[in-house]
Amino acid sequence: MAKIRMTTPLVEMDGDEMTRIIWKMIKEELIEPFVDLKTEYFDLGLKERERTGDQVTIDSAEATKRLGVAVKCATITPNAARMEEYNLSQMWKSPNGTIRAILDGTVFRAPIVVKGIEPYVRTWKKPITIARHAYGDVYKNMELRIPGAGKVELVYTPADGGDEVRATVHEYAGAGIAQGIHNLDDSIASFARASFNYALDTHQDLWFATKDTISKTYDHRFKDIFAEIFAAEYKERFDEAGIEYFYTLIDDAVARVIRSEGGFIWACKNYDGDVMSDMVSTAFGSLAMMTSVLVSPKGYYEYEAAHGTVQRHYYKHLAGEETSTNSVATIFAWTGALSKRGELDQLPELVDFAHRLEQATINTIESGIMTGDLAAITSMENPSRVNTHDFIRAIAERM
Ligand code: NAP
Ligand code: MG
Repeated sequence: MAKIRMTTPLVEMDGDEMTRIIWKMIKEELIEPFVDLKTEYFDLGLKERERTGDQVTIDSAEATKRLGVAVKCATITPNAARMEEYNLSQMWKSPNGTIRAILDGTVFRAPIVVKGIEPYVRTWKKPITIARHAYGDVYKNMELRIPGAGKVELVYTPADGGDEVRATVHEYAGAGIAQGIHNLDDSIASFARASFNYALDTHQDLWFATKDTISKTYDHRFKDIFAEIFAAEYKERFDEAGIEYFYTLIDDAVARVIRSEGGFIWACKNYDGDVMSDMVSTAFGSLAMMTSVLVSPKGYYEYEAAHGTVQRHYYKHLAGEETSTNSVATIFAWTGALSKRGELDQLPELVDFAHRLEQATINTIESGIMTGDLAAITSMENPSRVNTHDFIRAIAERM
């Protein structure tokens, strides 16, 4: 069989620990036998980030701007323990944060739904994709502990020397707390466009919700920006595609999400997205079955698994013990990237290959062959629990 040809390379961002091991197996056993794989390789493993002063992370994001599509392996975000373990000269920032800042993207997380791993919510039949606004609000706040009686105000001082604007937050009779948060029209607009584009891309309805009845200026601004951009730039394309943009209050959205059968994108403000993505991913069964894609308003895509480097399994692996680490989300990061590359370069065979690999992965699990994390929660009787490598081999056999 002739290998499937690629024209433009993918940006390949290698990573750390157990996911780095899985990464190599996926490439060698599931992709390279079938595809004449072209990538520009960046090693984002912590050793190489240390060696290059984190320049490799920046280079990989710049390459993504040039080539358009990237696939990323999970990476270590250093903390105090990692400083010692890797003998680091600095506590390097999270690569995902660095890449997101360069690409100015929105992250979409979607569960991979298979028979035998039932969502905890009975009505959910299709995936629910969460888009989290990753800028501002409580994550870039200023907080004060108020020791006793006094007044807290918001003060805006225009840069052009115009009149100051003041508003009283509270007149304190005694001790308390205060918090200032902000957001930016540009950031909200990018978030809105990324969400509308991704809905068109994946042919799903888009839901958005805030608390605009209570927050009549702040949250209302989110609602207005989404509504204006939708009317001016997306309404017609949504009509043509037969999909909907639906706005409601956040509490109403939560109730409707639970009653829904899924199959839509839920755009969330920063805090709502933080909280709801953990709820939704857990309710769908497993973090190891959650994919993630960063979509920039300029149309760059970076695909990855939502989980981390699975450190605990890696240490077992190093100790020579058998592991049963789930590679599904990392496989789907590759198929997402290959399929997008195929779509952009008009290579239907590459798109088709990506879908076949996804189907082979799903069929493997649905035939009862799965890693330990899924074997522990499946509704199937007598699943066969396999190790990390045998799971990938079972998919390769189906391919
Ligand atoms: P983690 O890698 O997500 O794993 C946490 C636990 O979840 C694992 O110990 C395992 O549970 C289970 N798990 C996660 N993925 C799994 C998989 N594919 N197959 C089977 N089980 C899976 O989080 P962590 O161990 O707390 O973090 C390790 C490193 O990952 C950290 O250095 C962190 O900075 C990094 N991280 C990176 C990213 C990213 O690059 N996007 C995201 C999150 C974290 P059991 O041990 O019970 O089997
Ligand atoms: Mg969270």
